[in-house]
Parts: sequence; structure tokens; C-alpha cells
Amino acid sequence: MPISSGLNSEIIRVGIVLPEDKIQEITISWSPELELESNIPDLKDVHNISLIVENDGISVKNLPNSSTQATIALACPDQVESLSTKYGFHVDSVVAGRGFHWEKRIVVDLPGKLDISIQDGSLKVINFVNVEAYVACVATSEMGSEAPSDLLAAQTVVARCWSLALAEAKHLADGYDVCNDDCCQRYQGTTYLTTHSLKAAIETRGEVLVYDGQVIDARYSKNCGGMVEAYDTVWEGGKVPYLIPLWDGPKQKPGYAVDDFEKHYAYNEAYCSSKRFENVNLAGMLGKVDVSGSYYRWEQVMTKAAILENLKKYTGLVWSSIDDIRVMERGPSARIKYLFLVGTDENGKMAEQMVKSEYGIRQMFSDSFLYSSAFVIKNAETLMDDDHIVLRGVGWGHGVGLCQMGALGMALINIGYKDILKHYYPGTKLTSLN
Ligand SMILES: [Zn+2]
Ligand SMILES: [Zn+2]
Repeated sequence: MPISSGLNSEIIRVGIVLPEDKIQEITISWSPELELESNIPDLKDVHNISLIVENDGISVKNLPNSSTQATIALACPDQVESLSTKYGFHVDSVVAGRGFHWEKRIVVDLPGKLDISIQDGSLKVINFVNVEAYVACVATSEMGSEAPSDLLAAQTVVARCWSLALAEAKHLADGYDVCNDDCCQRYQGTTYLTTHSLKAAIETRGEVLVYDGQVIDARYSKNCGGMVEAYDTVWEGGKVPYLIPLWDGPKQKPGYAVDDFEKHYAYNEAYCSSKRFENVNLAGMLGKVDVSGSYYRWEQVMTKAAILENLKKYTGLVWSSIDDIRVMERGPSARIKYLFLVGTDENGKMAEQMVKSEYGIRQMFSDSFLYSSAFVIKNAETLMDDDHIVLRGVGWGHGVGLCQMGALGMALINIGYKDILKHYYPGTKLTSLN
């Protein structure tokens, strides 16, 4: 039976600099040895260019004699064998963690073709790159360069499945398949690429997980918090047979009522439990953009004033106070799906609002984005009188599919990547796309 997928090309288009980043100038440089093609004439002895938006076109600032163009193209080979650390085009001012609490500007090195144009008065850079090269880069961008080889192999297969399935296809209308960030998959080109991760890509080349003749929609997140979440807790569209709740530990312990958060909180045997990483250099294994910490268990304090601001920002409602917060429904991993806010509106009347979706809840209860929606309110008893709320939670991310820290925990006790994948995507089959 032929295997079907969403991306019907060997090239994936990655949005690197987006119009919303509002960047008017970028510098791109490369090594003199790079095999380069471009539509800019006179690049023979030049190894860097500064591109600026000028008169509705793009000018090369350091080549004063070149004319303004609508699009600039730069290309270099991108077969997985040609890659090495920092191979390709060195691009400054790329946004990482777009809209999240860890947003920053980084420098990335990109293989393949760069297509630079203008949209809404700002620069737009799309990287056309071979899928296998992309996948090798994503695996290291999502993980640190010191990650164990089975973790890298698992992450590589998962990144390949996710890219080929292209189930979310959030950006097709904008002219690219995926963005470079956590919204899709974190991609920093060859910047942190190691021989280790390249080896994982070459050794697993073409390997995908398949369910019912289709490349699976391999979701993953940073830390499930102890139990992997069900697809339908987080997204619309019903259940997905291989994205189901399961204990992220060596034994499938007996279940308990979803609302028994304390029992869930006390569970520390999971593969992603912070106790497994006590003597591990997490920063080296989890990637450079991440803030430190495991996020298996966490606590956050937020002022009610900040929640009222968010309520206004995301729903348009103007309230003078938050008086009660009620959890209406949790998924199996304790992630809240529906949450009910009770407060007082600007006319002094009682007001109510349902916060729907894991995403909406994480947005509402943080200055940027909360680690997860699996939390309880620690000061619920005194909430009426307090000017802040204290959230006690588990996990980082939506928790569906592969748990990256759990996969790290498994690899650290020598569980191979095929068993890691089998654990997180039950019922799927690992096969090779030739
Ligand atoms: Zn995206
Ligand atoms: Zn986990």
C-alpha cells in the first residue's frame, strides 16, 4: 500500500523572517568556499550583503551600484551530506520564540535557497530546503547538541513525520509550509548542527511512523508532566487513535479521577520527572533557546490586574475584579480544557466568562504564555480577597504525543529510539519511505 503524506515535495518552504517581525534590514554573510548562486550580479568577491527596504524594493546597501529589486534569491547546496555546523547563509535578526516569554533575536545559518521579498513594507525571508536537511536541523534546534543519539534519532523521525504529514498547515496562505518557530517546529538551520545529529538524520533517512497508510501527525511537546495528553483535549476534530493518554513512565500505573490533581502532582516516576535529570546538563541537551529548569512541576504568581488586562485584550471584556475561577473540564493529563471566570463588570454587576481551550487558558494566565494548562489555584480559598493568584502546575507545552524530556529520560537509561517512538505513538509502525 502506498504511504500518503501532506507535503508532496522533497523541498519544504520555511518562513524565517516574517512581515509581522517588522524587519527592514538584514545582513547575510557566507564563507568564500560556499557554492553560491544568486540573482544579484557582482557577488564574486563579496561575502556579505546588507539588504534594506527602499522605495518598495530591496537594495543591497554595501553594493551601491546594484539596482533595487523586488526579490533577492541566494542558493547553496542542501543535500544532507553537504551539511556541517554553521554551513550555509549566516542571517542575523531572526526571531525565536515569537510572542512567547522567551522571545529573542538570534543569528542562524541556513542551507538551501533563500527567497527574500517585501510584504507590508517589511522583509520576508523564505528558506526552500530539502526535507531531510530540514529534519536534521530541526532535531538539533529542538534538542541540545549533547543530546543522546537515541533521543536525536527519535526527534528526527518525529520531526520528519510532522513535516511530511503537514496536518496543521498553518501558513499555506502566506506562501510557506512552516515557520521557523515553536508555532510549527523550531528550526535554526545548521547553527548548532553536530556530527552526532547529522548521523541520526542519515541513519534514519526516510524513516517515518505510519498509521492506516498515512504518515502520522506526530505531535510533541517539551514536558507532559507525568501523563501524555489526549489529542482531543487540545485540538478540535475528535480523537486521533495514536495520540492517546498514557503514563509517561516505565509502568502503566492504575488511573485515578482526572480531578485528583494532588495524586497526579505526587507522581514522580515519569521518564520526564525532574528527579531523572539531577546530574544531567539539561541546557546542553535541551537546546539553546530554552530557559533553564525542567518544568515537571512549577509555580507561577500572577496579579489579578494582569488577568483583567488579558481578559480585555483577548475578549474585549472590561471587568473591575476577578472573584472566582472554576475548572470546568480537565483532560487526562490534568490539562484544563474549559475554565470559568466569575467577576464584576465595569457597572458593578456580576459577570461570567468561559475560557475555552488549553491555548486560551495559557494565554489568559500569563504575561506571555503559561507553561501548561495543567494547574490548580493554590490560593483558591482566599482568592476573593487576594490581589494575585498562585498557580501550581505540571508540564510544559500541550503534552500530546512525544514528551521531549520523557524521551530524554528514556534515552538516558538506554532505551532505543524505536522503543521510545512505540511508547509515545502506540499502534503506529516505523517504516522507510524510499
Ligand atoms: Zn508556524
Ligand atoms: Zn513526559
